Amino acid sequence: MYFMKSFLIVILFSLMSSCSTIIINKKNRTIASKALGNCEDAFSRDKIEKSNIEEARVYSWLLKPESIYTVHIKNDSFLKKVTFLEARYNNNDEILIDFTDLKDGKKITYKSHEIFSIGKIGKNEKKLRKVNNVISLPIVASEMSKIVFKPYKKLVSHKSIEVVGGVLTNKALGGNILNNTIKFDDSMEGLGFIKPESTRIIINDKPILPNIAGPFSLKFPAYNVWTRESKKVIAMNPIFWKTNVIRNESVLAHERVHAILHRTYNSQAFINRSSAFQEAFADFSAAHFLNDPQIGMDAQKPGVAIRDISKRTSSNKKTIDKITKVSGSSYHDDSLLISNLLWRAREVLGVEKTSEILRPIIEDLNNYRWSSLNYELLYLPKVEGKRQRFINDFEFFLAVLQKRGREDSSLSALKDLVDDSVKELSLDAQKIQNLSLSLITPLTHQSFEFSSKNEMKQSIMVGVYGTVGLVVKGYFLYEVLIDDD
Ligand SMILES: [Zn+2]
Repeated sequence: MYFMKSFLIVILFSLMSSCSTIIINKKNRTIASKALGNCEDAFSRDKIEKSNIEEARVYSWLLKPESIYTVHIKNDSFLKKVTFLEARYNNNDEILIDFTDLKDGKKITYKSHEIFSIGKIGKNEKKLRKVNNVISLPIVASEMSKIVFKPYKKLVSHKSIEVVGGVLTNKALGGNILNNTIKFDDSMEGLGFIKPESTRIIINDKPILPNIAGPFSLKFPAYNVWTRESKKVIAMNPIFWKTNVIRNESVLAHERVHAILHRTYNSQAFINRSSAFQEAFADFSAAHFLNDPQIGMDAQKPGVAIRDISKRTSSNKKTIDKITKVSGSSYHDDSLLISNLLWRAREVLGVEKTSEILRPIIEDLNNYRWSSLNYELLYLPKVEGKRQRFINDFEFFLAVLQKRGREDSSLSALKDLVDDSVKELSLDAQKIQNLSLSLITPLTHQSFEFSSKNEMKQSIMVGVYGTVGLVVKGYFLYEVLIDDD
């Protein structure tokens, strides 16, 4: 049971600082740049890469070498003016960020969780980036504000799931969505996954304004002032004006997988840290359940799926058939390489065998990440950026599949699939085999299971008022503190 402890509103004004959604953990006051959740841009836009503060690569993308920043360290009242050098992992899989202190020119290193906030000092920031910032945050802000402040109509509920909508939302639609969620949950529980304790599914089927966020699943529980309850939220939003997507069972299942993965594993788990893998398993689990590789058929365009994991196509992009073409800028596109391989595994192994190995594969990915990082550290060139990072992740995935195929004769078809993929994508077969053989040290001291103790009990809502080209933007932060009993 959660109680709202306090509620405060902070208003900040800043001079052209880069903006971010801010999430505060009450105990250690960690402030993190977070995107709205999973899939906030899944079905409509390519943007918001600031998804996980714990990822070194996020720092690498957000922070440009040689650019000047202010860093605010926890328990320190002074801002440090620094230039960014690099972000890296240490031996405990923590993220270290190196800066040069502009005051004395010395190198300083912080762990990511020691940092309270980072601000950009940019006189020469490109205009495009400013425009992006101003546009993207209000999307997040308006969606968050709705979740917290809108008095939704309760349509239907069953045990831990409630479905809410607007005044005009049809009850039967709510009932359908509820039933589909329950059926999918049962199936996923049968595969060994865990569903969230409480869920609120919001149907936004009568948009007054076009919805740019699209459907999404929130990573942390969100409070609503009318119900006074904090719940995991799935927002079944239209894509701009198109409301077909709300009725789409594969999109619902996809969003539900995000919530299920974040309830089964903690935020340190590889599956919850890699956006591309998260999306791939969301697509694949939905496709596996519905026996249909087409995700979001008719949702955007009639007769076209948002993604087809058997063909590796997305509705707005060409076929993803070369790993070098993977830009890293769209993790949904990247995910097609992974989900496609899972789908092909399903075709050769059959439905039952695939159901048996889905969770073990995710567990391998989580547990063996450590030895793979060791391997990278020893044998691979310095990870330069997002694209190289994804290629490393993908090779790690192939190594995991190969390991499974090697250890269990009933899964030997996986070895052939890996060989095919290596050939097709012109990857280094020897490297992947070496990597596969090196996957012998699970992180025994670290559990990736979800623990409610570490769950974020609090959410902070951000509203932004700004005008493109104007110097001053106002940040309205609504902080909701929630104590658990
Ligand atoms: Zn998604």
